[in-house]
Amino acid sequence: MNAFVALPMGSPVSLQSIFASNPVIRPKLIIDGLGAVVDAPPLALSALSAIPGIAAGTGALPTGLPVPPSLQPWLTAWNRLFNPTFQTALSSRPKKWLAAGTPPAAPAAPPAGPTSTLDGTVAIGLVNVSGPGTAALTPADLVDIGFGLINAINHLTRNAPASAKLVFVVEQQTVTLSVNPATVPAPNGSNSSADIEAREKMWRDPALGAIGQPASFGGITAYRNALLGRTWWGGLHAGKSVVAFITRYNTSISAYAAFGRLVVNLPQTDTFPGRIHIDRVIAHEICHLFDAMDEYAPCNPLATAGPLHVPNGNCILNPLATIGQAPCLMAGTSDDLCTWSRSHLGW
Ligand SMILES: [Zn+2]
Repeated sequence: MNAFVALPMGSPVSLQSIFASNPVIRPKLIIDGLGAVVDAPPLALSALSAIPGIAAGTGALPTGLPVPPSLQPWLTAWNRLFNPTFQTALSSRPKKWLAAGTPPAAPAAPPAGPTSTLDGTVAIGLVNVSGPGTAALTPADLVDIGFGLINAINHLTRNAPASAKLVFVVEQQTVTLSVNPATVPAPNGSNSSADIEAREKMWRDPALGAIGQPASFGGITAYRNALLGRTWWGGLHAGKSVVAFITRYNTSISAYAAFGRLVVNLPQTDTFPGRIHIDRVIAHEICHLFDAMDEYAPCNPLATAGPLHVPNGNCILNPLATIGQAPCLMAGTSDDLCTWSRSHLGW
């Protein structure tokens, strides 16, 4: 069963000791070492809930729980999953979440490098990039980011084979820049590399500076290496790392991912495909960082990816997919992954 485990402030126990002494509790997402989404049998969960200093449950946890401020939006996001109004909103979402409009064409695929399979312990350096005026992230945004990550990782861990041993560890940082949002050019309908970079660099480089990293893609690589080099809770070491920037500063399109980082623009996501789909957006972009390809036009059915160099067979421009494209997260038509995308992810 899916459950949330939270350590209230001053708790004498650590997630590390919980996971070490209860091997049947399988973490799926660990947040700053303060909370986790886990998969566990009911008996193990009730034993866990009985330990003083731990809050754990398969449903909503007490709202007044004195968790550290950085965990609060995640706890609120978890609890919202059990709110009947939100449940109705979630369950009434169309399966074809990119069907409501024309998805922006994905940025050109990065040059083929060594393939990176989605397995093992994956570190996410989550950088919430806030700023003055219209760039200010709101408390509601932080809850939506928590929901987006929690449910994205539900989709990915639900689809991954057990042999992938997929676990996500998140280190979150919220930076507040002084960059005036009006100085970042509005989107101009182009998602060329130059147009993406012209907007992103204006807030990304100061954000990297705020977390002690150099500017540009060198800073992203340095931060990813730092995530690989650190020891995570429970003595875990991550074998893979990505950086996720979430912001209200202008970007070329709602969301995109390449070169080890994903970017989600909240106001543009509101416009397309809608904030309620933020988990799907994040899961889709994470998959891009592990070599999965878009399956909507102008995808290339002959492009290959993954450890077995499998073509993009479910691309809508493949004549066979045109008459019967399989539902897939990478086509924007499902929360699950088709066989083709699974092979790209190394599953
Ligand atoms: Zn995409």
